[in-house]
Amino acid sequence: GRWDTIHGAGLRDTEETIFDKIVAGDIPSEKVYEDDLCLAFKDVAPCAPVHVLLIPKHRNDLSQLRKAQPEHVGLLGHLMSKVGAVAEAAGLDDYRVVVNDGAGAGQTVFHLHVHVIGGRELAWPPG
Ligand code: ADP
Repeated sequence: GRWDTIHGAGLRDTEETIFDKIVAGDIPSEKVYEDDLCLAFKDVAPCAPVHVLLIPKHRNDLSQLRKAQPEHVGLLGHLMSKVGAVAEAAGLDDYRVVVNDGAGAGQTVFHLHVHVIGGRELAWPPG
């Protein structure tokens, strides 16, 4: 994506991502859970029998977790508080919750998203 420096305070992704199109319904997704603030849908390239992505509907400058600011605390709390409902809706018992923060950690879509993964034995430490 295209990155702009804002007041020397860091980088801000100014481009829409594929997740904006999913929220808008322009790209189809298999929805698992939805409310006013967030959407959960099945990952198109699952790494486990169940692999769901939970995202804020509006990115709100939260391209990645390290961009979190005080104004994001409510949204982040909302996302974390809905992981259990998402997992239940996906039929999961135990599961793993992952946020890849940065390209070196495997992040490819710069719209904050929480991976909810399960349905198989989950090794620790992860790869
Ligand atoms: P990675 O691609 O390494 O998993 P991320 O943590 O940024 O990096 O996760 C982005 C996720 O979005 C990937 O798991 C990818 O399979 C998923 N994805 C990309 N496009 C779509 C889509 N159209 N519908 C559902 N999931 C998607």
